[in-house]
Amino acid sequence: MEEKTLIIIKPDGVKRHLVGRIISRFEERMLTIEAMRYGMLTKETAKAHYAHLADKPFFQDIIDYMTSGPVVFIVLKGENAIEMVRKMIGSTNALEAAPGTIRGDFATNKSQNVIHASDCAAAADVEIKRFFSKAQLATAKHSS
Ligand code: ADP
Repeated sequence: MEEKTLIIIKPDGVKRHLVGRIISRFEERMLTIEAMRYGMLTKETAKAHYAHLADKPFFQDIIDYMTSGPVVFIVLKGENAIEMVRKMIGSTNALEAAPGTIRGDFATNKSQNVIHASDCAAAADVEIKRFFSKAQLATAKHSS
């Protein structure tokens, strides 16, 4: 089934100049870039994005990290894109992420782990709308 998923190359990924290498991996797997935007998360959007972790002791650290520098937001489209991308990014904890996955190759700890990807269809839907306006998504459609 064709799906769309939302990727964020996190501030450490951008600072470490990994943007091109990460995008290459998705293109190599024939995932299509539907929309892409370079920008900052506001504290408010970061809190909404990680609301499921609001009761964790490290919540404020995640918000500070995610708003510490620019990120790249990407909507990817493809067959079973959600599961494929989750497999490609690897486990949350760098130590558990398999070599060959993005986190397994580039991340060094559990919090600053280079990349975010939606974990299910419902989340993808909400996250795509959170970070891209209707106009930005429509423009992508016309040009593809
Ligand atoms: P994922 O990003 O793999 O979907 P979660 O939704 O559980 O995982 O966590 C969101 C983000 O919060 C992680 O990617 C990581 O940046 C941070 N995080 C998760 N667990 C921890 C932890 N135990 N300590 C510090 N940061 C964490």
